[in-house]
Amino acid sequence: MSKLWKCISLLLLSGCVTAQTLPSHDEVDASVDLAMLSAIRSEELNHSKVMDHAGWIADVFGPRVTGSENLDRAGQWAQEQMKSWGLVNVHEERFSFGKGWSLQHFDASIMEPNYQPLIGFPKSFTPGTKGRITAEVVRVQVNSEEDFAKYHGKLQGKIIVLQPVREVKMLEGIVVQRWTPELLKEAESTPLVGPAAGGSAGAARAAIFDANAQAFFIKEGVVAELDRGVDASMVHGDNQLSWMTQRTDGGTVFVQAGGPFESAKAGDVLPQVTLAVEHYNRILRIMEKGIPVKVELNIATSFRDEAPGHENGFNVIGEIPGTDLANEVVMVGAHLDSHQSATGATDNAAGVAAMMEAMRILQAVGAKPRRTIRIALWGGEEEGELGSQAYIRSHFYNTATHAALLEYKTLSAYYNLDNGTGRIRGVWIQGNFAAQPIFRSWFPMLKDLGVNAIAPRSVAGSDYSSFDDVGLPGFQFMQDRLEYNSRTHHSNMDTVDRLQRDDLTQMAIVAATFAYNTAMRQAMIPRKVFVPEPRKEASTR
Ligand SMILES: [Zn+2]
Repeated sequence: MSKLWKCISLLLLSGCVTAQTLPSHDEVDASVDLAMLSAIRSEELNHSKVMDHAGWIADVFGPRVTGSENLDRAGQWAQEQMKSWGLVNVHEERFSFGKGWSLQHFDASIMEPNYQPLIGFPKSFTPGTKGRITAEVVRVQVNSEEDFAKYHGKLQGKIIVLQPVREVKMLEGIVVQRWTPELLKEAESTPLVGPAAGGSAGAARAAIFDANAQAFFIKEGVVAELDRGVDASMVHGDNQLSWMTQRTDGGTVFVQAGGPFESAKAGDVLPQVTLAVEHYNRILRIMEKGIPVKVELNIATSFRDEAPGHENGFNVIGEIPGTDLANEVVMVGAHLDSHQSATGATDNAAGVAAMMEAMRILQAVGAKPRRTIRIALWGGEEEGELGSQAYIRSHFYNTATHAALLEYKTLSAYYNLDNGTGRIRGVWIQGNFAAQPIFRSWFPMLKDLGVNAIAPRSVAGSDYSSFDDVGLPGFQFMQDRLEYNSRTHHSNMDTVDRLQRDDLTQMAIVAATFAYNTAMRQAMIPRKVFVPEPRKEASTR
């Protein structure tokens, strides 16, 4: 039995890998506490609770739309867990969000020309049907407001569909994606052309048109709208990288919001359901043959008003207090909220579970970090990183006056997880080249766990952006995407079944290592020169 094999077989029995694979002190930064890093690994490899956390958050509390009772319960549970591990300053910080939304009931079926139950899901922030309804489906084609007139008086009591048939391509692409050497090489280079500019003016015009169309349809007496989700496969050009994953169809539905959540406007839209593309297409193909289609719907949803002192948005906070540098802070975080069509397991119970587990491990091994390590579980991420932005405004930076608050100077770094259940392979450093040698100096002790990439480019799309936007060092870990792009992101199949235990275990070890090293080093993580500029919109969430 070779030494390597001996170690691997011992690893299966115990945590022996820690002593065997960690580099010697002369290979790494002298401030790194190898004994503590070994203890972190050993605790996680032998006593991991990461799947248990994820199971509570996703299976037990269910879909966690911001402002829902499910999210409140998950937040309460997270605080109880943190307190039970001895974290201090455990509390929630509420922020004004708008109306909360929950789904109470849904079913949908084709009734004529023959019966078929439909796979679909109501869009969040849309109203219900006020009981069971059966109505004829009508195809409506409106490209501009002039088109409204031709439907005046013709839509009373109808269910409408706006999109044409979408061709379903046979699944021949990649469904499960890990970082390949080629993709890593691409990510580690800097693109010399930024993301395509513009789009926001076009998006704003489209939003106004959509709102006017909804108002017209409601006035005309339309009872519901069916769609088949967005056309985009989302998978190419994500982070400007050539991901080759293909989105799965076959009963997987990608569903997001269908209406505003601001208190004054919430609910002023049609009941809306996104159907599996194959079922949507069948309805249209029958209608194209001149045969009427009748669909039965029963949707019940509820909106929750904000109460003074109990606003619908909240973040959960907990801390491991620092010692000689306790006034300085290292933050880790992930968003606790989710979309509604599944249990938000990979987006983002996975990230929350790994970050909570990192805190649990650090407590379990008796870590005494020099700086305070703080965890934040964000709300409102899916509606535009609203929780982390509220936190920035109340603790670090007044975005209205562009004035730094007192705590601005005290944050060393914020680390975020929000790319699903895949293991961590490196860090997007947001163009902060001064951070690069520091992270690289930690890689020797993480190399055997597959962590060794630095991607220089700035990415956007989750809560680290809120920090980066105001000049604070906020970083997103680079994760293996696995089925995130193809199957689980914002879909009805984002369930605990898709979580990968070994990857989550690795994520917890790496997050704890980064947090601890950041808390122990002599200096804080260096910052970029900060030039205030408007928020960038892209997607790595
Ligand atoms: Zn997310």
